[in-house]
Amino acid sequence: MGVLLLVLFTAWLGIATRPVGLLASFWPANAVLLGLFILHPQLARPEGWIAALAGYVSADLFMGGDLLFSLRLSLVNLAFVASGLLLVRLMPRRFRSLRRPSGLLALFAICLLASGCSALAAVLLGHLVSPRLFATAWEAGASWFSADLTNAVLILPAMLSAPEFFSRLASGRHSRRRDDLWEFAPVVALLVSLMVCVGVGGPASLGIVVPALLWCALSYSLFISALLTLLACVWLFVAVSLGLVPLLDAGNDFARTVALRLGITLFALGPLTVASINQARNRELLALRQRADHDILTGALSRRGFFRRGEGLLRQHRGTATPLVVMMLDLDHFKRVNDRHGHAVGDEVLRSFAGGVRQILRQSDLFGRLGGEEFALVLSGLTEADALGMAERIRSAVARRPLHAGTDHVVATLSIGLAWYAQTPAGTLDELLADADRALYQAKDEGRDRVVMVTLAGRESPELSALPLA
Ligand code: GH3
Ligand code: MG
Ligand code: MG
Repeated sequence: MGVLLLVLFTAWLGIATRPVGLLASFWPANAVLLGLFILHPQLARPEGWIAALAGYVSADLFMGGDLLFSLRLSLVNLAFVASGLLLVRLMPRRFRSLRRPSGLLALFAICLLASGCSALAAVLLGHLVSPRLFATAWEAGASWFSADLTNAVLILPAMLSAPEFFSRLASGRHSRRRDDLWEFAPVVALLVSLMVCVGVGGPASLGIVVPALLWCALSYSLFISALLTLLACVWLFVAVSLGLVPLLDAGNDFARTVALRLGITLFALGPLTVASINQARNRELLALRQRADHDILTGALSRRGFFRRGEGLLRQHRGTATPLVVMMLDLDHFKRVNDRHGHAVGDEVLRSFAGGVRQILRQSDLFGRLGGEEFALVLSGLTEADALGMAERIRSAVARRPLHAGTDHVVATLSIGLAWYAQTPAGTLDELLADADRALYQAKDEGRDRVVMVTLAGRESPELSALPLA
């Protein structure tokens, strides 16, 4: 039912735009149906195809076509969808995703071949069998080819990149810089250039839109760029068709209309490719940064990641009344663990320790490995008692979590130096860690396996208070 309604609606949209002129006439039904079948292959079953056929035929019947003729035109439309889907399935897996720029070019090749198939079907079924729609077979084929190619090249990239965009949106990963008005500059530039293009006129006027489209491609996700490219091209089709950009001779210059339609379509490939390359590049950079910010062995933040995020957290809360906790954690006599059980077991202890700490922490807490068996924590908004409670929970969790490595039974203990600030202080993270480190030294001096806390209003002389062994 969904397939039928979608085809009915998109076909009706195509029929409704026919009066605007051949160039602007929009036939999104085929590309949208192909996109739907690619995204949801389970719909491309016999019932799905029958529903699509019913959608095409009923849209045409509503507009006053006769049944046999509508049926023939619908089969031409389905020839595009079927050949497109077959080609997508034949395509090697690595080219199937728009996550790579080569995937976009592969999609273009598929659109080209599928449009060729529908053009052939149009010649055979549409023109030869019923020559009343087009004057010659060449016209029938060229018209179908250019319409299908245009719609597919403009619609499919937006459709196929939509799921990733919306899943990122739902997970909140698109929220950055939402308050930054500068983010809208490329789309404003695009709107301005579309208006300027109408004002300037002449063959060069289409090029005026290119820089703004490229700016959009470099600034937004593939989905948004593909959507903007689609809207810009539809606008160009309408503007040329209505004579706002005088590129067509008066009258029915069929060959020129088809050439212009193909020209604008190919012109869209530039921004689409740039958007795809840009998205792939951003993803790789993000993955690299993610890797650089995390420690491979323990999954805690790396020193670099910890300092970057820690300084960010300090900047966010500095000058506010939010209390802050900085902790230094050091496993006791860890050298002995290595010496007794071997380095591999030592690594396993580090991994298990980090896993245990993560279970106790909140989402917003920062946990980093500063090096070797030394870790650090930055937590905000905890009262003095809660901070001490959290440190104690971490310490006792380590002591209570012996590790079994073969026949070995490894018990590690942990010393923690904790600096609690009544409000977020002005010092750098390095300076705050030095406060916590002094407390850690005291914990080691007093016999290890304990928490020592310093309480500070800002960053003045620390008062040390040791928590007795549990
Ligand atoms: P203390 O209680 O004074 O902290 O004694 P310690 O032995 O823990 O401290 P020390 O700084 O003397 O030794 C740290 C040891 O941690 C030395 C090194 O072998 C071990 N270590 C550092 N990084 C790793 C690692 O990635 N894997 C393993 N298995 N061991 C590591
Ligand atoms: Mg140690
Ligand atoms: Mg150490």
